[in-house]
Amino acid sequence: MKKFCCDTFRFRYEGAKEMGLNFRIIKLSQPFIERSKYKGNIYRYLITEGYQVLDSNIKIIFIEYCPHCGRELRKLYNSDLYVNELDHEF
Ligand SMILES: [Zn+2]
Repeated sequence: MKKFCCDTFRFRYEGAKEMGLNFRIIKLSQPFIERSKYKGNIYRYLITEGYQVLDSNIKIIFIEYCPHCGRELRKLYNSDLYVNELDHEF
């Protein structure tokens, strides 16, 4: 069962990716991790405008903390259970 830091985050996370502004949780791809020798958190937290998968012309901002309640996102959203999409280039 998924737990959320707050209802506002949940609402934006569960909304369709094509709509409005959303919070997305992305897992870094294995090739990206291997290329970068990255050893830390393999999840990333984004605010995006609505988009289609593989649309590279979208506005994205990476976030570390929930803009609504202030919780550190990686402390809560750190399993595959929360991943929205796996098909990004990073
Ligand atoms: Zn929150």
